[in-house]
Amino acid sequence: MNTPLEGKTALVTGGGRGIGAAIARRLARDGADVAITYVSAADRAGEVAADIEATGRRALALQADSADPDAVVAAVDRTAEELGRLDILVNNAGIAPFGPVEDVTPEEVDRTLAVHVRAVFVASQAAAARHLPADGRIISIGSSLAERVPYGGWTLYSTSKSALLGFTRGLARELGPRGITVNVIQPGSIDTEMNPAHLPEAEQEKEFISLGRYGRAEEIAAMAAHLAGPGGSYVTGAAIPVDGGVTA
Ligand code: NDP
Repeated sequence: MNTPLEGKTALVTGGGRGIGAAIARRLARDGADVAITYVSAADRAGEVAADIEATGRRALALQADSADPDAVVAAVDRTAEELGRLDILVNNAGIAPFGPVEDVTPEEVDRTLAVHVRAVFVASQAAAARHLPADGRIISIGSSLAERVPYGGWTLYSTSKSALLGFTRGLARELGPRGITVNVIQPGSIDTEMNPAHLPEAEQEKEFISLGRYGRAEEIAAMAAHLAGPGGSYVTGAAIPVDGGVTA
């Protein structure tokens, strides 16, 4: 079995379902011990942890609301404490606020930026300050909507995901001298509960996707595994589209 991440430990936020669960399972299959966070779906997180353990790796499922910076930092520290180290941080947890800009409340702005930006910032800060080794990896899940917004209603979401570009480039500069890489994957339309491929709106969206179909969570996980593994050693400060060509 090919296990390029043997001896490594990863934390995946929002790893109980969707893209995060696919990443957690893939990193475990590649040899890493994996911690995941969840906010509400404890049972789903438990299933992912059981799948990780079934590969012979250690797993940890931690409840940590990404809107609460103290909880996020505690999850980073507990991962390193309980699994012995932290090599790979995957900032994945996310929400999908949608609607015309005139309906967006200040509270929604705060919550979206807290989950998509502040949580990424404080988790990466804590990981870099206390845990990541010289070949450590920080991978965030952004969105193609940071590059191209084909419809109205996504202003707040796009605002928050665009912030990850500046974050990624800035932190890559700061951590580069230590050998730590920082990148953001920008998925297009991926078939998850957030964005189910079976809805009528999805048919319309597919017309804009060069490959003509929604992506699978495993296709995002494949890029995360590449960045986390030896193949990603000279990639940093990059925004990597995995979007079937929707931004082409
Ligand atoms: P899902 O809705 O399927 O899963 C969302 C995940 O995020 C769940 O694990 C959920 O935890 C977790 N989460 C949500 N809010 C919080 C919070 N406050 N604290 C901790 N965890 C939280 O979405 P996807 O898997 O599709 O999305 C994953 C990431 O990918 C997000 O950042 C999203 O913006 C991004 N993305 C998705 C695309 C898509 O088309 N699906 C396209 C582009 C980007 P719980 O299970 O406990 O609720």
